[in-house]
Amino acid sequence: MGNSDCLFCRIASGDIKSTLVYESDDILAFRDINPQAPTHILIIPREHIPTTNDLEEKHAAIVGKMVLVARNLAEKEGLADDGYRLVFNCNQNAGQAVFHIHLHLLGGRRFSWPPG
Ligand code: 5GP
Ligand code: ZN
Repeated sequence: MGNSDCLFCRIASGDIKSTLVYESDDILAFRDINPQAPTHILIIPREHIPTTNDLEEKHAAIVGKMVLVARNLAEKEGLADDGYRLVFNCNQNAGQAVFHIHLHLLGGRRFSWPPG
């Protein structure tokens, strides 16, 4: 399942170190190396899925679990009441840099809307 050319597959396999905040048989969450907010966590499936364009009906459960992990981590990080942002970037217009889907959990400051 792991793709050795993919940075996040390598993080999932433990080949590259990260600061893990959650781990299960199918999901991993770790702190972003270049945080854009006081809390910036990435939630990924262990399965290599390049972009949200590649999601299929069979992925419904894993994507649902990713959102629930984000919800639980937001609570744990004390973000729930003030609020936080969940983001999937897809392809160049959104600035996707790592082609293994990841849900950004950002919090601890106020974000503007619409996004830049
Ligand atoms: P994207 O722009 O693809 O939505 O987000 C990729 C994210 O991965 C960026 O926020 C970037 O800082 C983060 N990132 C890139 N390389 C690493 C790494 O080696 N370790 C960790 N923890 N985060 C990374
Ligand atoms: Zn991957």
